[in-house]
Amino acid sequence: MSSAPSEPGPRRRQRRSLAARITIWYVAAFAVSLAALVAAIVPAVRGAVAHEDAVVVQTRVERHLALLVRRGLPAYQQAVEQAGALGDSNVAVRVRDAEGRVLFQRGDVGAAVRTASRTTSELRLELGADTDPWHAVADRLRPGMLALLAFAVLLALVGGFYVTRRALLPIRELATTARDVAVSGDLSRRVPASDGHDELTELTELFNRMLARNQQLVHGMRDALDNVAHDLRTPLTRLRGGAELALRGDDPEAMREALGDTIEESDRVLAMLRMLMDISEAETGLMHLERAPTRLAQLARDTVELYEHVADDAGIGLSVAVDTDVIADVDVMRMRQAIANLVDNAIKYTPRGGRVTLEIAADGGRALVRVRDTGEGIASEALPRIWDRLYRADPSRSRPGLGLGLSLVRAIAHAHDGEVHVESEPGHGSVFTIALPRAVSSSS
Ligand code: ADP
Repeated sequence: MSSAPSEPGPRRRQRRSLAARITIWYVAAFAVSLAALVAAIVPAVRGAVAHEDAVVVQTRVERHLALLVRRGLPAYQQAVEQAGALGDSNVAVRVRDAEGRVLFQRGDVGAAVRTASRTTSELRLELGADTDPWHAVADRLRPGMLALLAFAVLLALVGGFYVTRRALLPIRELATTARDVAVSGDLSRRVPASDGHDELTELTELFNRMLARNQQLVHGMRDALDNVAHDLRTPLTRLRGGAELALRGDDPEAMREALGDTIEESDRVLAMLRMLMDISEAETGLMHLERAPTRLAQLARDTVELYEHVADDAGIGLSVAVDTDVIADVDVMRMRQAIANLVDNAIKYTPRGGRVTLEIAADGGRALVRVRDTGEGIASEALPRIWDRLYRADPSRSRPGLGLGLSLVRAIAHAHDGEVHVESEPGHGSVFTIALPRAVSSSS
């Protein structure tokens, strides 16, 4: 326990780094995509600008040539010398004759950024322009683009971190609850429910359901242990008392008898322990049931066969009345145990000459197992208590029994999603019914 509180520290660090790591990955992916976008766009824009520029320079050559052809070299020369006469202040021009001799030159055409030429039969006009529209565009766009880029990356960073943290909130709450449960052992803790419909909401719901199930099981086991401890105290004390009493005397015959009683009492305690454990397991949902669609008629016949001799010896008529179509999803061994308990009681609490009938019937969606007897019946004030563990109605105390049979019947019925009830008329008999959900298909 002492090391437990130190555990959350490193885990929390790890958790934070997950949000940060996702954000960093996100921002990195975002930045790389942006860079790729710029890398793809820049050459295309640059090419388009260069193409436009070449067209412009070509148009200039045409204009210059038109002037030269129309007005002759001297006039053209004059127009060019008066800088700006053609609207072209920063151009270099060179005029050659058909043999390539330079007739006129202004500026250095060879050193210009972009050049263009036109040739007629007598002349060749070369024009160079120091235009650089791409750099002009880039210079103008750069500050705005950089600011935009910085803003986008910052937004991705802040937004990404916020969104990631929000998305991881259910996981953080899950971890907090799991840590609380691990540290305090308090199984009543639950992760706060969110109203989303995503995988994390489902995970939260499943986690809460798992906690609820664990809580139910742990409580069930605790209750079972309490009950068993409580219920065994009396017979064990009695056992010890008997042995102690026998030890005090020195009559070997009495001691032998006491030892015999002790063994008998021990067997009772063992049988009781087995039944108590069965009841507790069934009540808490820990009982392992191998359920399969089963024809209840067969179960009823098996049980009656088992009790035929007992009933004969007790002078009681035992019969079955079954609807063979009734099928229920049951663990054969456990259901047989429950039916046997009811038949056993019916024979035990019915006087010689009476009748016990085991019926299997259907009632809508329910399968009914009914044990009817013509016995002594149960007083109305005892009726609500007969299902309690260790309860035995007054007139029954003289007969063998542990007072656990009906508790087990009820626990088995509940474990099968069924119900039990009893109708009884003192002096006339009782009807015990197990009602189970009816199954449709059969494998037996
Ligand atoms: P046990 O039979 O060992 O006493 P059970 O739990 O089976 O314990 O039954 C509890 C009590 O219910 C019995 O002691 C008896 O008083 C009463 N009881 C059960 N079944 C019948 C029955 N068929 N007819 C009359 N009384 C019954």
